Amino acid sequence: MFIELVDSLRCIADHEDTWLVAAVAEFRGRHLARGSLGCPVCRTQYQVENGEVAFGRPGGSSEPGVPPDEDTVLRARALLDLAEPGGLVALYGDAASLALALEEETQATFLLVNPQGVRLEPGVSTIWVEDRLPLAPGVLRAAMVGAGPVTGVFMANLATAVRAGGRIVAPVEVPLPDGVAELARDTREWVAERSRERVSAPMPLRRAQAGRRV
Ligand SMILES: [Zn+2]
Repeated sequence: MFIELVDSLRCIADHEDTWLVAAVAEFRGRHLARGSLGCPVCRTQYQVENGEVAFGRPGGSSEPGVPPDEDTVLRARALLDLAEPGGLVALYGDAASLALALEEETQATFLLVNPQGVRLEPGVSTIWVEDRLPLAPGVLRAAMVGAGPVTGVFMANLATAVRAGGRIVAPVEVPLPDGVAELARDTREWVAERSRERVSAPMPLRRAQAGRRV
């Protein structure tokens, strides 16, 4: 877990939004390899092992697969609108296999969520989640959802975590969450843009109006 990324992580328990306090047992360069992230409100400790943080579920495993070909990488870069360098990008499931190639080309920081098809090590930022995403609103520049089941709660959390104007790409069988506008779709995926409203605007009124799942 890249140490600067810890600022973007939040407790997933039902209380006001709060950052997490890192207790470091082992660093590898600028990456937190082992330790824990503690919530100052509810005292939950999220364990960090091998650079991976488990939020609400035990960690999983991921075996390296065949690296994506150049066309797949170029397509992902275009769909995610990563022409400019920098920012934080989340890759879910087997979309994680794009991280290495995209990192070289875009100089963005990548956060792998329930990754598949990649080798996990302390220098790779990985979180394991059930369906609630431990991310502050608007911290992601873009997000890509790979194959595999995702819940409505997960997609709603993901939409909130992406900044205004940021892209989300997901398989066509995944319903679009609230707060995003579809830009395009083909037989495999849709690409949508986070609405350009302030994501940090007061939520209760809108939530009551639309009855949205959060
Ligand atoms: Zn908490």
